[in-house]
Amino acid sequence: MGATVDQAYIRRAIELADLNAVRVALYAQTHDPEISALPMALALDDAQRELLIGKAVAWLVDNASTERLPRPDDAELRTLMNLATKEEMGDLEFEARRQLPAFEDFPFMIEWDGPRAEIPEGFRIAIIGSGYSGLAMAVQCERLGLPYTIFERRPEPGGTWSVNRYPDIRVDTISITYEFNFEKDYRWSEYFGRGKEVREYLEMVSKKYGAFDNTKFDHDLQKATFDEARDVWVLEFATPDGTQTVDANYIVNGVGTFANPKFPSFPGLESFRGQVVHPSRWPADFDATGKRVAVIGNGSTGVQLLEQVANQAAHTTVFQRTPQWISPRDKYGQAMDPEITWLIENFPGYWNWWRYMAIAGLFGTHGFIVPDEEWVAKGGKWNAMSDQLRADLTAYIRAQTGGDEELIAKLVPDYAPFSRRPVVDNNWYKTLTRDNVELVTDPIVEFTPDGIRTEDGTEHPVDIVVTATGFEVMKYLWPADYVGTGGLSIHDFWSTDGPRAYLSMTVPHFPNMFMLYGPNSQPLSGGTGLPIWYVIWSAYAATCITRALQEGKTRVEVKAEAFERYNKALDEEASSLLLMQDEGAPDKNYYINEHGRMQVNAPWYGPEFHRLCTVVNWDDLELS
Ligand code: NAP
Repeated sequence: MGATVDQAYIRRAIELADLNAVRVALYAQTHDPEISALPMALALDDAQRELLIGKAVAWLVDNASTERLPRPDDAELRTLMNLATKEEMGDLEFEARRQLPAFEDFPFMIEWDGPRAEIPEGFRIAIIGSGYSGLAMAVQCERLGLPYTIFERRPEPGGTWSVNRYPDIRVDTISITYEFNFEKDYRWSEYFGRGKEVREYLEMVSKKYGAFDNTKFDHDLQKATFDEARDVWVLEFATPDGTQTVDANYIVNGVGTFANPKFPSFPGLESFRGQVVHPSRWPADFDATGKRVAVIGNGSTGVQLLEQVANQAAHTTVFQRTPQWISPRDKYGQAMDPEITWLIENFPGYWNWWRYMAIAGLFGTHGFIVPDEEWVAKGGKWNAMSDQLRADLTAYIRAQTGGDEELIAKLVPDYAPFSRRPVVDNNWYKTLTRDNVELVTDPIVEFTPDGIRTEDGTEHPVDIVVTATGFEVMKYLWPADYVGTGGLSIHDFWSTDGPRAYLSMTVPHFPNMFMLYGPNSQPLSGGTGLPIWYVIWSAYAATCITRALQEGKTRVEVKAEAFERYNKALDEEASSLLLMQDEGAPDKNYYINEHGRMQVNAPWYGPEFHRLCTVVNWDDLELS
């Protein structure tokens, strides 16, 4: 134990810690029945809290150690997971969640099933993008010894975390949920890591696991054409040295959906004499000191950057088209307490169970999105959980705005929480109450040379406009074109009802092409944290590729019938969920596409989607 770490220090550490994680980590060490009998942290009375803290401190005084907790066997793991949430989980849930405490480094990543295939001369997998998903695929290829190249349009790894550098950008779930199982224990300086740290984490992963040396940076994919005679994709990249053409046997897309900014096209925009900034093109020398600034948009981006912009500007006008449900997060914006860092290093199992609990908070989210007809018949809006959250968040808005009724009327949404992606508060409501900050909800009709005119005829004079208007999330694989069998362009194939895929990954007529984070991939409920999903989808692609190699096949394609069947079931599953109902305001939701289809999310109960993606149904695929 270090010189400055005495009993009082350890007590402070435990008091600052997630007490549910402490409870499980301590039980794992001691099997003390008094600990397993304790309720969840929020339900602890003073005596129970003291009992837990006292026992944890006493144990640590004697046993603090930098050893890692060994992986518990399945029975023990399940006991601990049930203890963590005080709920017995079913087999389906156990399978989907057992890797969340991350005792194993490479769960879901596959090994060769049977003998390692001979890799044909010149064989290559092209991974597009070096953000989270592209790197997950690269690590999977490294482990299998599959030749691959990452093609990245930017000069560095990081994906959306490289693109977005606006003020106060940071993750909005606890930092450790952003770690891959295979690269944990990153020393985050804040509980919710800043964008720069996420970028650095990804660069470290890229270098440490060999991906960096296999990456061609400044390679922007323009077009990919499947050569049916050779079963090879021909890729054309724009590079600083002109167009480069490369052959690849497989394409694995890790291009994400938050890379292409959505630039609004307001009438008169070209006549505006001031500066227009999209957050994903943030100028390093941005300076709003003494300026009048407009911020358009109140999604996660607009909400994150407002306070910092308003701190500089002389006057800030926020243009809100649709109110959002914006909620607080404990420890958001706070530096990591050194006591917690000490705890991670010296309380074996604490990191694992803290991570588990951080994700477990999302296990119940399915409850928010499924209807309760009885509840509605009795006068409720959607279901009891949803209505309670609506009441809590409304009270939060009221408290943050100091009860300003005019402001509150503009800020409280008329649709249910969880219809859209939840937004985390970065002092946004409080910032709106400043004397030099104004919230405008009249629709924008045009830009003038000196400002923005709204429908009520007011011209708002501004020098800088920040367009926090989001990304082209509906345009998968765009702006590149993919030409599959029979000369079919993917964007033509998707033109009738928007992008679709089988299990979010594969599309008929586009053999040997996989998407990670493709259409309908974002798990809507049941929570398991995204890094593990990137690994799961990568493993699916790798399973198909290795099997084809072993069988001497050169083409893997989803059967059209399986694709149709899957999407029909998906649409049916989506139809009853909140997002597609009036109460979910589908017309205001970027998760729903212009054809009225749910497009970003997987509507399935999370653990069920997990099962679908981890158990390959070979009957649905054609290997030839
Ligand atoms: P977004 O969620 O799509 O929000 C765009 C905002 O701009 C909305 O308020 C939208 O209004 C408004 N808007 C768009 N076009 C407009 C127009 N023509 N006129 C007026 N207002 C307009 O985009 P985002 O905030 O950039 O977020 C994108 C995604 O990245 C989200 O999934 C978000 O959660 C994620 N993100 C995550 C983090 C994080 O994890 N830390 C940080 C930032 C972003 P309407 O609501 O009326 O459409």
